[in-house]
Amino acid sequence: MESGPVIRKGFQLKKQVLPVLRQDYASTLIDWFRAHDFEVQVGQTRIVLAREFGFCYGVDRAIQYAYETRARFPDRRVFLTGEIIHNPFVNRRLQESGIEFLPRTPDGRKDYTVIQSEDVVILPAFGVSVEEMEALQTRGCIVVDTTCGSVMNVWKSVRQYARDGFTSVIHGKYWHEETRATASQAVAAGGHYLIVLNRSEAHQVADFIRHGGDPMAFLRAFRQAVSPGFDPTVHLVRVGLANQTTMLMNESLEIQEILRQAMVDRYGTDCLAEHFRAFDTICSATQDRQDAVQVLLQRDDIDLMIVIGGFNSSNTGSLLHLCQQKVPSFHIEGVQDLVSADRIRHKPYMQAPAYTNGWLPSGPLTIGLTAGASTPNSVVAGVVLRLLDLRGEHWQDAPWMEALQTVGAPSLG
Ligand code: SF4
Repeated sequence: MESGPVIRKGFQLKKQVLPVLRQDYASTLIDWFRAHDFEVQVGQTRIVLAREFGFCYGVDRAIQYAYETRARFPDRRVFLTGEIIHNPFVNRRLQESGIEFLPRTPDGRKDYTVIQSEDVVILPAFGVSVEEMEALQTRGCIVVDTTCGSVMNVWKSVRQYARDGFTSVIHGKYWHEETRATASQAVAAGGHYLIVLNRSEAHQVADFIRHGGDPMAFLRAFRQAVSPGFDPTVHLVRVGLANQTTMLMNESLEIQEILRQAMVDRYGTDCLAEHFRAFDTICSATQDRQDAVQVLLQRDDIDLMIVIGGFNSSNTGSLLHLCQQKVPSFHIEGVQDLVSADRIRHKPYMQAPAYTNGWLPSGPLTIGLTAGASTPNSVVAGVVLRLLDLRGEHWQDAPWMEALQTVGAPSLG
């Protein structure tokens, strides 16, 4: 079957889809916060938002292209290969608009065999692997590729490493779609990869670079995180660093330094360029959100932080990690997780979701708020109002009511 077209720039239907995008994801309440220094005092409760949070440029674009696709092909079957971004609210809305998720085979893989040449398939903002793209193209369908430009920049670095004989060491989560897609680019370009999750794993790699070791033990430790045929005695001689775009920037920089120093120790400073390369591939949206939450946490009046985003959202997890070092912090997906003033459903960092009781103090309280790059403003607004409700505050008396009525705002959501 002939390959179908790959659409990478949408369908120029922004004007047509903008009203529904606004209705689903925007919030006049959040606009009010932006115009009022990102904070409000209602009764005994102060709510302060980070100055950068929520939808990034890549997510904005991916969602717009998905809505444009639905509008352009109202009579065709439109599939998503999986979540378009890591937010349950957004994925549900897309399903409600008639976009289907690709079914899975009994062993959990995506089932491309259901796709016919007249179907349309949307790829997510974090991209798909080279093999997945090839499998799709054999179906002859139209592919709408929403992969973010920042992810594609990482792919470019990784392919260049492979062509120059460098192994890509990727700071990321080996199970995350973006990292799997990035790793597949290294292999497709004839290279190898190794994925490291954190500093501790980077130190293990640095030890092997400095002193060698048992290759089998190394491969056992990284069995799910290396390319086929990876041999640490061969493939750790020249390494190039890259990262999943949504990791913690400070951790990525530290990992870079740990491995750079190991190469200096093993081969000497004069030969470093032959053995070590690095590009900072954390995307600017992730960095802006991490910077903004760190500025917020410098205030000494923040009593607790609420971090909003999909439980499988990597950049939201990174924000939580920063927050919990300073104050009690809760990662929630949305308003439904604020069960009561006593009980909250949340996801502790790198753990399964759990319930905690007694999470919301009484008396004067300042709550900080941030949201991951795939969280709509409408969800953040819902959380603000629910927090005030749970604190027993009358948000109908808040200073925003008059302003919103003046502009004829349709809703606070
Ligand atoms: S978080 Fe960064 S890389 Fe991911 S979609 Fe947003 S802008 Fe692109």
